[in-house]
Amino acid sequence: MNAGTMTSSSNRDLVVILSGMLKKLRGVEEIGPGRWRACCPLHDDQHPSLYITLEDDRLLIHCFAGCKTNDIVCTLGFKMADLFARSPGPRQRVHKIRDLDGHIVAEHVRIDSPTGKKFGGGEAAGKDQMVSR
Ligand SMILES: [Zn+2]
Repeated sequence: MNAGTMTSSSNRDLVVILSGMLKKLRGVEEIGPGRWRACCPLHDDQHPSLYITLEDDRLLIHCFAGCKTNDIVCTLGFKMADLFARSPGPRQRVHKIRDLDGHIVAEHVRIDSPTGKKFGGGEAAGKDQMVSR
């Protein structure tokens, strides 16, 4: 895998999903930058007919034998939502903390992962941080 494609934070999670999928597939072959071919897990695939393309904000999965992408993704243990980057970013809720005069003294930022899934160190979901002004 090309480390140079992993610098964008928007598709970092997609790379995690992608590598998880590739591990479960047979006959995986990298056919170009961000493009893989593998044997489809849903039909008796003698010649790899499953094509996976990593784009900036999504993973494209297509079986040329006509299997449904949704079924392929489920078989691999993922959800369709996993194929899309969190765009425009993680859901953020900002609670403004005001003093008695109504001046904003701090912002309480809560970031929730839309999938509820934890990545990496396991702190991605429900992380709290204080931003002082
Ligand atoms: Zn197929």
